Amino acid sequence: MNNRGVVVSVKEEGLLLVISAPSGTGKTTICRALTDRHPEFILSISATTRAPRPGEKDGRDYYFISKDEFLQKLSQGYFVEHTEIYGNLYGTPANGIKEALRSGKTMVFDIDFAGGHSIKKAFPDHTVLLYLLPPSYEALRNRIISRGKDSPDEIRNRLASADKELQFLHSYDYFVFNETVPQAVSDIEKIIFAEKSRTSRIEKFQAFFPKGGRDNV
Ligand code: 5GP
Repeated sequence: MNNRGVVVSVKEEGLLLVISAPSGTGKTTICRALTDRHPEFILSISATTRAPRPGEKDGRDYYFISKDEFLQKLSQGYFVEHTEIYGNLYGTPANGIKEALRSGKTMVFDIDFAGGHSIKKAFPDHTVLLYLLPPSYEALRNRIISRGKDSPDEIRNRLASADKELQFLHSYDYFVFNETVPQAVSDIEKIIFAEKSRTSRIEKFQAFFPKGGRDNV
């Protein structure tokens, strides 16, 4: 018993934290900052058929595999969800999720809108859907332009899909503005704390009143 006069036994189950955001919001940086700061946060590594970009590492950023291998794994039920984006296949490996839940870890998914909702459907009681917002439309536009990776057409497409995605904001559980990395990380930590403090996680609860009990007021 602690000095609060209550004994609470809480389920040590993990969480699945899906972070979606318009391209250029800094989602990958936030996911990495979370997993760097907290050993109990682990990043789900997707498989993809797209080619690695400069600086990307197999097994860290993605499992870069061929289309044949992807389709074979798909037919073997290896992915909990998968999608095709700009002609490339992406899939979230199912293995690891159950283990993360059992061992009380928070598994972070850097995946798109549809993928996040599929994870929620598969694990409704353990999935937290979070939408990361840019500080403003202008900030998003400037970030995409300053990355220097996209043609004017691609920039227009990315901004148009951000606009479209925002219409579904209400289907997420939480939103966080990415003004700065430390502030966004801190906001997400609070959300995880709140999720882990849900009374639905309590297995056993016992209250002990001091001598004199409720009359002692
Ligand atoms: P990129 O090619 O820029 O790394 O990723 C393109 C988009 O695919 C991003 O929005 C990213 O979050 C999403 N994505 C990456 N992996 C997966 C996955 O396994 N499933 C789904 N549904 N989307 C993914």
